[in-house]
Amino acid sequence: MTSAEETPGDRIDRIDRIDRIDRSTGQGFLAVALDEARLGLAEGGIPIGAALFGRDGTVLGRGHNRRVQDDDASCHAETAAFRSAGRRRHYRDCVMVTTLSPCWYCSGLVRQFQIGAVVIGEARNFLGGHEWLADLGVEILELDDPACIDLLAGFIKAQPELWFEDIGR
Ligand SMILES: [Zn+2]
Repeated sequence: MTSAEETPGDRIDRIDRIDRIDRSTGQGFLAVALDEARLGLAEGGIPIGAALFGRDGTVLGRGHNRRVQDDDASCHAETAAFRSAGRRRHYRDCVMVTTLSPCWYCSGLVRQFQIGAVVIGEARNFLGGHEWLADLGVEILELDDPACIDLLAGFIKAQPELWFEDIGR
């Protein structure tokens, strides 16, 4: 079929077929972010991890929340992963993978750089801006992953003051 014969509906179907990240691929991506979250916990920090992937599964960058480690409230998991990826011409073909629903600041990062997809470990311990991103056309895959839920829930129970500092409450 030539593009002249393609209807808008066909085009949406085609994009869906090409772009959708399936759950098993998403879980594979999430394993890297979860490793980062555990590293952060081992360092005495807040256990939230992230990684920036290419659609082909290449890890472009990875990182974790470093509020405690660096005494820097702006170093979130997603920003750390994004910065470690260095410069790129564009990000539409990239996937931000994070253990926790991205806060407004990190959702803004996804929006600003037009990252095409976000894979989220969980949104039970914290609901950020991922529904806003979905409304803007960003592909969102929420995995509701028990390991991510348990890791952060355990931390919140153990260090509630640090958690509430992180989320600004
Ligand atoms: Zn954030």
